[in-house]
Amino acid sequence: MQTEQYNRGASSAFHLAEELRENGIDNPEVLKAIAEIPREWFVPEGFRARAYDNEALPIDCGQTISQPYTVARMTQLLNPFQGMKVLEIGTGSGYQAAVLSAIGCRVWSIERVPDLLQTARHRLEKHGFHVATRLGDGTVGWSEYAPYDGIIVTAGAPKIPSPFVSQLSIGGRLVIPVGEKATQQLFVVTRIDEEDYEVEEHGEFRFVPLIGKRGWEE
Ligand code: SAH
Repeated sequence: MQTEQYNRGASSAFHLAEELRENGIDNPEVLKAIAEIPREWFVPEGFRARAYDNEALPIDCGQTISQPYTVARMTQLLNPFQGMKVLEIGTGSGYQAAVLSAIGCRVWSIERVPDLLQTARHRLEKHGFHVATRLGDGTVGWSEYAPYDGIIVTAGAPKIPSPFVSQLSIGGRLVIPVGEKATQQLFVVTRIDEEDYEVEEHGEFRFVPLIGKRGWEE
């Protein structure tokens, strides 16, 4: 990328992070990652001019890149730390995975739409983000690398798929929107020990549907 173009992107990303701070995002690592990553890398060419607006934008295949506030809020709710093992369901544009990776998390991400995964994989690689990705139905989790310190689900589920809970480490956190197809409540499920979980609710959000064996029907 040309330096001038990069600088413009970096300055806009900085302003976006400032806007999120004013909207109540207070995790410094999260704000830093958002300020550093040019979101325009992850949106289709026709939407680059709006890449730093605090809004969701269409990507291919009828899917969306989540609103920056939503990405920031969900990331903050994970309580991310350096070296944290995080599983993401719904790679989409790859932006959320890039934010986690910039914070120092080790990221595994699953996407069900082949074209989206291919584009995201290419972008992440090109810009130096190390994210392990897999094509498939994320509602069954990714047992091979479990347990995870955090699981972040970026599509709305009708109910909490049990594999997510069983693939969490003790103390691990699951951030997941659950509800109707149009709107959901954002839940944080914390695994207290083998059997016990704590559940918190964090307000209403709108996500595209989580489609799969333990999600919505196609
Ligand atoms: N995290 C993404 C958000 C993309 S929108 C980003 O930062 O851009 C949610 C994504 O979840 C869509 O790409 C959709 O195809 C995907 N998805 C829906 N159901 C899924 C499932 N069962 N497994 C994996 N991905 C799924």
